[in-house]
Amino acid sequence: MTDPARRDGADGPLVVRTPEELRRALADAGRVGLVPTMGALHGGHRSLMRLARERADTVVVSVFVNPLQFGPEEDLDQYPRDLPGDTRLCGEEGVDVVFAPETATMYPRPQMVTVDAGAMGERLEGASRPGHFTGVLTVVTKLFQLVRPDLAVFGAKDAQQIALVRRMVDDLDLPVEIVGAPTLREPDGLASSSRNVYLSEADRASALFLSRALRAGADAATGGTVAVREAARAVLDEAARATPPVELDYLALVDPATFADAADDHRGDAVLAVAARVGRTRLIDNVTVPLRT
Ligand code: AMP
Repeated sequence: MTDPARRDGADGPLVVRTPEELRRALADAGRVGLVPTMGALHGGHRSLMRLARERADTVVVSVFVNPLQFGPEEDLDQYPRDLPGDTRLCGEEGVDVVFAPETATMYPRPQMVTVDAGAMGERLEGASRPGHFTGVLTVVTKLFQLVRPDLAVFGAKDAQQIALVRRMVDDLDLPVEIVGAPTLREPDGLASSSRNVYLSEADRASALFLSRALRAGADAATGGTVAVREAARAVLDEAARATPPVELDYLALVDPATFADAADDHRGDAVLAVAARVGRTRLIDNVTVPLRT
């Protein structure tokens, strides 16, 4: 940062909209930590910012609703946007720079060259949202190139995303340290999400079945993979009969390195992941299940 006084966030973060402004803001920035987001920031994002704040001299939060990762039938246009509120929240967390580019700045012409997420990118979220992870990895690569961070923080809430980002960084020798942040939950267990604002009170009550199912699965860990899957499935069967119903997209217990189904005799950590629609809102959640016996 050229102006060290801004580093305590007292004046609020510097909001920049273009790569040129960003470059100027990051002259003499020291160790840079990046938190990539799509905005509509909440407590989950705050926890990522705090991890970055502890590890970096200059914290950059990007706020960009990336069209490349949305399918044609998805909620790109309805996705919540609130840059003034986001900037205030970033100020409270001592963020130095908010990078909020326009779509035309990030994609001045149709993107021809993209980052292929490979087989892991075609499973679970990738199967339900074809092209999603190509969009994610492409924008993350662009953000890494623009910000040149020493470290970047991602949430375990999007377990497949952080696994793919880690794999990309390894496979492509990108000089960025990836820091993972645990999933922040509301007091009732619902994973914090920008999309939670879409939920009516009744939707929200039904949405609680997701975290309940994951907890039931994790609690069955000593019984092995079959018991984990059965325990979570039983809760989701009940959820399908709730009002409004929880319409399951997938429930899967996967190997965290590949996101392929965990073998029946899997040992070590596995990820129990769920995606479902409640009302018109699609929600995802996951927990890590240690399988030791
Ligand atoms: P998004 O704005 O939803 O694209 O999320 C930006 C980053 O925040 C991603 O790395 C997410 O995994 C992370 N994130 C979102 N929700 C949570 C949460 N409840 N707990 C921890 N991290 C989260």
